[in-house]
Amino acid sequence: MAAPRFLPLEHVVYAQAEQVSPNIRRVIAENPNKFTYTGTGTYLVGRGDVVVVDPGPRLDSHRDALRAALDGERVAAVLVTHCHADHSPLATWMRDEWGAPTYAFGPHPEPDPQWEALGVDAPDPDTADTDASDPGTAAPAERDPVEMEESTDFAFAPDHAVVDGEVLELAGFTFTAVHTPGHTSNHTCWAFAEERTLFSGDHIMGWSTTVVSPPDGDMAAYIASLRKVAERGDAVLWPTHGPARTDAAEYVPALVEHRLQREAAVLAAVRDGLASIRDIVELLYVDTRRELHKAARRSVWGHMIKLVDDGAVTTADGTPPGIQSIYIPA
Ligand SMILES: [Zn+2]
Repeated sequence: MAAPRFLPLEHVVYAQAEQVSPNIRRVIAENPNKFTYTGTGTYLVGRGDVVVVDPGPRLDSHRDALRAALDGERVAAVLVTHCHADHSPLATWMRDEWGAPTYAFGPHPEPDPQWEALGVDAPDPDTADTDASDPGTAAPAERDPVEMEESTDFAFAPDHAVVDGEVLELAGFTFTAVHTPGHTSNHTCWAFAEERTLFSGDHIMGWSTTVVSPPDGDMAAYIASLRKVAERGDAVLWPTHGPARTDAAEYVPALVEHRLQREAAVLAAVRDGLASIRDIVELLYVDTRRELHKAARRSVWGHMIKLVDDGAVTTADGTPPGIQSIYIPA
């Protein structure tokens, strides 16, 4: 199978509503970084009474752009894919401004202290050590504001917590919640029936693979959620970051294959005697910029947890799999 073919977003217009399909407008927030690509794409579905998908980050320029785009209209409902800081925060403003009810799978779960401890990484001696994937562990003064976008919006709690497969009739359209855990445990894609479209959030992005960072990120769940989307047959995927995909039938299986190949490479490395996630990242990510190695270690940790669950690998001392554990073949 061919490797997934990632696509660039051809042109980016910030802070303006752009008609991207018969019923869908998109406003891109000016928050580009290594997680958000060119920025958060907030989708406005319909005219007059509007359903918003992923209202976006707490950014004045984005809020003002949305207010201008919605001049003379009202937000009828807000659908949230997950509670990262580049997706959910402006939901609260839309609820205050238009009384719009918010829908999501649920709030972000509170971190489990035992798993948080297993995920504490050793510092990198040779790079500026801001922890991109888990900014909460860095002192505030050390944090790069650009690195904060993947941080979690624990304040968000939806008015309506949906279940998988729940159908919502909103503003004359039909939306279905498609629970897709993996990137986060509460990640939900939103199917828009009238255009056979799936708003795929960060589960499937057009330009890159997504971050799967334990403990809330779960590689086994992520792969299962990719297969779930592959079976749906949506005509178009609209990710929150990057371009639309009209080739889901090839692209989504290629993403599954890409993850399984990485898993096989991690397992082969352990069988070759590489015992630490740090050493495995040095081997498998030799062509990747070092500043991304910390995020890569969390990704390999995700693969390792799955390999331990699958019975292929174990920790040398039998303790639960941590980011600094010593791993051996099972
Ligand atoms: Zn995210």
